[in-house]
Amino acid sequence: MSDAIEALLEENRRFPPPAAFAASARVSSPALYTEADEDFRGFWQRHALREISWFREPTEVLDDSNPPFYKWFADGELNISYNCLDRHVEAGGGDKVALHWLGEPGEERRITYAELLAEVCRCANALRDLGVRRGDRVAIYMGMVPELPIAMLACARLGAAHSVVFGGFAASALADRIQDAACTVLVTCDGAWRRGQVIPLKEMCDGAVDLCPTIKHVLVVRRTENDVPWTPGRDVWWHETVASAPADCAPERMNAEDVLFLLYTSGTTAKPKGICHTTAGYLLGAMMTHRWVFDIRPDDVYWCAADCGWVTGHTYIVYGPLANHTTGVMYEGTPEYPSWSRHWEIVERYGVTVYYTAPTAIRAFVKAGDQHLEGRNLSSLRLLGTVGEPINPEAWMWYHERIGGGRCPIVDTWWQTETGSIMISPLPGLTTTKPGSATHPMPGVAAAIVDEQGVEVARGGGGYLVLKQPWPSMLRTLWGDDDRFVQTYWNRFGRDVYFTGDGAKTDDDGNFWLLGRVDDVINVAGHRISTTEIESSLVGHAAVAEAAAIGAHDPIKGEQICVFVITKDGVEQGDELRAELLQHVATQIGRFARPGMLLFTSDLPKTRSGKIMRRLLKDVAEGRELGDATTLRDSTVVQTIKDQADRQLGHR
Ligand code: AMP
Repeated sequence: MSDAIEALLEENRRFPPPAAFAASARVSSPALYTEADEDFRGFWQRHALREISWFREPTEVLDDSNPPFYKWFADGELNISYNCLDRHVEAGGGDKVALHWLGEPGEERRITYAELLAEVCRCANALRDLGVRRGDRVAIYMGMVPELPIAMLACARLGAAHSVVFGGFAASALADRIQDAACTVLVTCDGAWRRGQVIPLKEMCDGAVDLCPTIKHVLVVRRTENDVPWTPGRDVWWHETVASAPADCAPERMNAEDVLFLLYTSGTTAKPKGICHTTAGYLLGAMMTHRWVFDIRPDDVYWCAADCGWVTGHTYIVYGPLANHTTGVMYEGTPEYPSWSRHWEIVERYGVTVYYTAPTAIRAFVKAGDQHLEGRNLSSLRLLGTVGEPINPEAWMWYHERIGGGRCPIVDTWWQTETGSIMISPLPGLTTTKPGSATHPMPGVAAAIVDEQGVEVARGGGGYLVLKQPWPSMLRTLWGDDDRFVQTYWNRFGRDVYFTGDGAKTDDDGNFWLLGRVDDVINVAGHRISTTEIESSLVGHAAVAEAAAIGAHDPIKGEQICVFVITKDGVEQGDELRAELLQHVATQIGRFARPGMLLFTSDLPKTRSGKIMRRLLKDVAEGRELGDATTLRDSTVVQTIKDQADRQLGHR
């Protein structure tokens, strides 16, 4: 049996949990895995009964009578905002800080659990006055201000599903998402701070709302105080309506399987997919993974530096941490403004103990240079995490040494919008990590690597990553499109096997290594090679900050490998370095993997969540018209890359 994807790079550095960390870790015995392996239903049921505050305890665990339409805890009743707020306040924990918020221009807010509960109730009452009812959908399109999680929790309190649309999306993307879900209210801000500039969010909303007749009201937070267009009757100010609303609002009794939120992710077609999550299973996944993976203790100051517009923000800024009564940090801006030191200033200012970010940010920190760390005291940190992409081993090492001071375990967490919570990750008090590997499936998660036929590949082999067993925080469907849900995730290997769309391999120790989306696998002369491995090899060279590999059409080999390389600041680019880098890949991976083309660029096309959009690089390499670039963070980047490529190809 041949591997569906060849595994090439080998990594032998190992990092066992530091003894002191392991000694007091929340999970320090493998019993959690065994318990889950023996009986995953009983495992989840026990945690659900113990950890969730129910209005009515469920007697059912998993209904798997109609795969892939699974139900969890289907006769249970609860409210997730009650679980995140009221129960902590009732238990005497109302004075604990829920959120330390820092605005981009520098102002601060400190919000306790009791204050957050009151604000959520006010917002829920205001939304109800605007006509929002149980079962409705509410769109949220804001910058990273406290009113964003407040609006999410207020929807949950009323039993309305929220659909958060990342504040960096254009009006047309917002309109598509509002229309698909027929949202009735839109919550937004006058503007959002982005690198010292005001992004006119309200104005953008108006462009969208013109196309969305279902929207009856727009609720607007005053943040940047720019002038905004106003439609009387439809538009209302937060500081007028929410501020004057009563601070108590009974939480709705929701069914475990009632929809909590929709979150749109881009698919292979232009139409985004409305990933649909329900209440109890999602809460359980968020709460338990947050506690286990981040080793959360009562005195932690936990900072997930994602945006609430992504699933990471939903699960690991809002629901998981609040359900666990954690003190969190929320920052409005981006890591590079006003300088690349910003994150480290924040760590120092709040005494952050657990920090969670994306590999794209880590590579950007490396590129910007270590001078931004000078004079910063990062000694409060005890645990680091990453999510969003495979982390290149050298970026991992930099994170470990420079940010973690060599003492903090790193949890590389693999999961998706669809999975709702972390699926593959080290448990920091237990797992020996290897730079670049997400290590092992979480307790209760049946991850496997299969070939084209769905047969599991032997240890050490590569193929398609699947999940063979349902889990509580799994997506339930795509909003309004059960067929697409089945076709996208449950068709390739059977109705009871979830196909992740990712390639992966295991190593001889059984660690999982993520190899990127299978659509990105490159086929060179019969070898199926992952883009991730080529990129990691390049990032391992001292001159390289970031790299993207793609397969471009080649008349003889079928495909040739083409790489785009960003060098570290101050490195001299040219033919000598090019030859050295090509040889570096050939030596590390094999001659067949030597790229046929290497282009130096100043940037890479990234989606708004920081993932490289390889499709556009393929257009550049093959000299085609550039495809749709509307979901890029900065759509001018591709043209710049194309110009840089043309210049280099021209003189070669
Ligand atoms: P999203 O749903 O936008 O969060 O993207 C999910 C995808 O991001 C996954 O299918 C992976 O391709 C990638 N991803 C997320 N976390 C990791 C990780 N720790 N290692 C490798 N890839 C990751």
